[in-house]
Order: sequence, then structure tokens, then C-alpha cells
Amino acid sequence: MRILILALAVILISCKPQEVIETPAPPATPGTVVRIGAPFDLKKDQPKLVVGITIDQMRMDYLYRYWDDFEKGGFKRLVAEGFLCANHHYDYSPTYTGPGHASIFTGTTPALHGIISNDWYDKRDGEMVYCVKDTVYKGVGTDSKGGKMSPHRLLASTISDELMLSNNFASKVIGISMKDRGAILPAGHKPTAAYWYMGGDEGNWATSSYYMENLPQWVQGFNAKGLSEKYVSQGWNLLKDASAYNESTVDNNPYEGPFKGQFRAAFPYDFSDITENRYDLIKGTPHGSTLSVDFAIEAIKAEQMGADATTDLLALSFSSTDYVGHQFGPAAIETQDCYLRLDADIERLLNFLDDEIGEGEYMIFLTADHGGAQNPGYMKKLGIEGGYWKPQVMLDDVDAMLKENYGIGEWVLNYTNDQFFLNTALMEDRKVDLNSACEKIAAVCMKHEEVYTALPTSVFRTQDFEELPLNTIQRGIHPQRSGHVVLVTSVGWIPNGYTGTTHGSPYSYDTHVPLIFFGAGIEHGQTARRTVVRDIAPTVSMLMKITQPNATTGDPVFELFKTTY
Ligand code: ZN
Ligand code: ZN
Repeated sequence: MRILILALAVILISCKPQEVIETPAPPATPGTVVRIGAPFDLKKDQPKLVVGITIDQMRMDYLYRYWDDFEKGGFKRLVAEGFLCANHHYDYSPTYTGPGHASIFTGTTPALHGIISNDWYDKRDGEMVYCVKDTVYKGVGTDSKGGKMSPHRLLASTISDELMLSNNFASKVIGISMKDRGAILPAGHKPTAAYWYMGGDEGNWATSSYYMENLPQWVQGFNAKGLSEKYVSQGWNLLKDASAYNESTVDNNPYEGPFKGQFRAAFPYDFSDITENRYDLIKGTPHGSTLSVDFAIEAIKAEQMGADATTDLLALSFSSTDYVGHQFGPAAIETQDCYLRLDADIERLLNFLDDEIGEGEYMIFLTADHGGAQNPGYMKKLGIEGGYWKPQVMLDDVDAMLKENYGIGEWVLNYTNDQFFLNTALMEDRKVDLNSACEKIAAVCMKHEEVYTALPTSVFRTQDFEELPLNTIQRGIHPQRSGHVVLVTSVGWIPNGYTGTTHGSPYSYDTHVPLIFFGAGIEHGQTARRTVVRDIAPTVSMLMKITQPNATTGDPVFELFKTTY
């Protein structure tokens, strides 16, 4: 035996090392990279255009729920040819639009990118702030305050920023959404442009002087077409025969809210009498999705996006789905129709991209910025725990406790996003221990059944939470920006409201959303592995062959990178 080993060693040592051993590639197994020595092009399959689609408030189950009613060329095509992450979640809360869009494009969570909500109390300035409001700038294409916007509160870089940095700003990057925050946060800090829709009595696409001084000719020309009036005057009726909507609850039920100025929440909707803020109806109906695709197609053509080998990025966020969801809730026939019409708009966009950019030359990733709860009243009727509650009773209890313990004073400066912002200056002045005050507030909150738990946010600086829902709360807290006490509502409970729904919680109805990759470099497949929102940006970065955004905490969806070379 010893002789045999010796002989083998002699044979091995006498073999001359070869630079490259040419061998036929063995069959690939998942997760392996097979090196066959052939030269390869690292930038092969780099898409000409990446379209990042965010669908505001799209729950994962809508893909299943409405599947039979979708046509072949929209959602069905994306899933049939693309890669579906079927167990994709938000892994922080609060699950709102601003943080959602920021997290998708930064690959991290509010704990690092700093967009802790849509609006929050700014501890330093002592006032409420909106995530993209910036009074330094003025509106372009609008005189209203809705134009004074910029991404200045976003603390991390985005894939859009990193794409621009990767080639010395040779790329075109444009953000488009009905909502300002849905356009501004995905487009990052130095895009070509970000455009959002001014509803009210304007009905135009606009931007801010952060991006440019004047609207490009093509945007002015688009606004001049008068499409907003054309669409609103059409009203809103069902796309398909009423029998196709058997997945939804009967129309005109107590869980649906009417449009402002109307009394009845039922098809067919006629808007001819609504004159005040008439073009908000574009946002609140599927016409918003149609107009967004109209505008996106015009942007791609006018800006020649995807026309050369340099990758361009279009961040397109559909907002109407959120407005409709809030007004009618997930079970409503209006919500189903909104998605069937969105399906047709997505098909129109895909067909355009095939013709203009070329099939297989562009890449799409599609996701949502959060989900949405079932209407708690409807759930309660079915015997499922939950409901609407009024936090004011709890706030009054907290106020009484603080006065009893520490005397008269404005101890709570603000309560928003389930967080208490306390008057630390007053506490210092009156020698009140902040930690013990936070503990006392948390104890009062927990006397209310609608509160699952309440904690001083300082615990998240010293302790790592691994289980839901506390780990998601932890990733939503920015040490500088967040409040002093955070509470988590019990599952199924929503503050205020009566009809429709909302979102914001760490529970699966708000966290579970679709994630689909489609087009250049994407092979068909599906995973049930739990992927999270911060995995999107590192995945897209790898597909675009650029660096990950600077605060990325996620990992690429590795199933997409099994390809051998
Ligand atoms: Zn949203
Ligand atoms: Zn919403």
C-alpha cells in the first residue's frame, strides 16, 4: 500500500502543470460555476434598458387571485418567461410607499437609508417632514408646492446612482410615477429626470428645479395632448363581463368608500359632475396606470432610452393601485378591475419594448412597495380577529400617566407611525430619566388589546431580534431619526378608518409581495425560498454589472446566477 502511494506521488510530481485543462463542460448543478478555460465576456447579456416596475400596494396573492382573468401578454407573460420569487417579503416596517421605494432601489432598509416613513417628526427641527419635500427647490411645470421636491432625505445610494457612477453618467436614468415619492426615490440623487403627476385641477406631469429648469419639449407636448381630461371623461366601468369578477365581493358593499363628491361606491362610475380636484380622479382610477404607460413610452422614445449599448434605467411606479386599494380594499370588484386594466397596460408596455428595444435586449424587474390588509370590518364579520381602533384613547392614557409622574408639561412632542417622540429637553431640565419614562409609556400602551407590544427604541441598539415581527421593527428604526418608543399593533388591527384598507404593519398581508425578473439574462424559473426587499438592488446590480448601492445589506437572488460559462 505504502509503495502504491509513493508510486502515485512520483507520477503526480512528474506531470507538468498545464495552464488550462480543456475539458468538456460537465452538466451544471445548481450553484456551481464550471470553468472550461474558454475566454468569456463578463459583460455579456448586459441589458440595453432596465425597467424597474413598482406596483403600489400589490399583494402577492393578486397574481394568483386574478390569474385566470389576465390576458397572455401581461402578468402571465412575465411569469411564464421570467423568474418568480413567490415568497418575497418586506423585512422591515413601517411598510409605506416612501420606505418601500427607497428600499427596493437602495438594497437596504430604513435603518440605513433613513426614509423611515412617508412623513415623520424631525427631532432636530421640531416639525413634521415629508420624505421628498425640499423647499430649496421650486416646481417645474407646476406652480404648486407639489413641485418643491428632491431626494435630499435619502441617505444611501441607489442602483440608479451606481449605474450613473459606473460609466461617468453615460446612462439615461428616469423615474416616473403618479406619486412624487414613487418617482424621486427610485431615480436616486443624480438622474436624468424624475417626473410625477400633478392631479387637482392641473392634470399635468411635472418635476422640480432640483432636476432641471424647464420641462423638455416632449413633456410639454405630452401635457398639451389633454389626455387627463379624455380619460376622466370616460368614467370607469368594468373591463370584462361582470361574471368574470367572481373572485371579488359583490359591488356596493359597506367596506367600500365612494369617490369624493359621490355617495355610492359602485360601477359604473360617472365623473362628469366632479369639478373640484378633477384630475385626482386620474390617480384614483386605473386611468392612472394607462397614463403612466403612455408617458413612459413617450419618455423612452424621446430620450432614446435603450437605443445604444450603454444600459439605461427607467423606474416606473404605478400608484393608482394604491389609491384604489385604500378606497375599496383587497376583496373589492374595483380592485380586481384595476389589476385587469393594469395587466393590459403592462402588455402594451411589453409589446412596445419588444418593437422599440428588441425582445431579449431589455430587462424588467417587477415588485410592489408593500401589500395591504383585508378590510378589518369584513374580516370581523367572518370571525377573524382584528378591527379598526382609535389610538387617541391610548395617547390620552399616556398623557395622564406622564403628568401624574412628572408634572404638567408637553412630554410627548409627536406620535406618528406608531412611535412616540418625547421632549428630551424638558426631561433633562426636570431631571426625568428618559429610559424609565419610555418603559412607563410602553407599559401604558400594552394595556390596550390592539397593541401587541411596545418597546423603547433604545433596546434595538443593544439587542438583535431574530423573530418576526420584532426583527422587522428593528430594521425600520433609524437610530437618529426614529422616535423614543415604538409600538406594534396586534395582527389584523388598523388605526382609524372604516372602509377600504391600509398598510404599514410588519404582518404578512403587508410584507408579502411579488418579485419577477424578466428579459435579458433571465432564465425562466421560480423559487419558494424567502427573499426580501433588500435583495432586489444587489440582484439588479449584478445583472447590470455594476457595484451594489453603498448601504446594501441584502444578497443577490442566487437562483438567477446559476448560468455556467
Ligand atoms: Zn405605496
Ligand atoms: Zn398606500
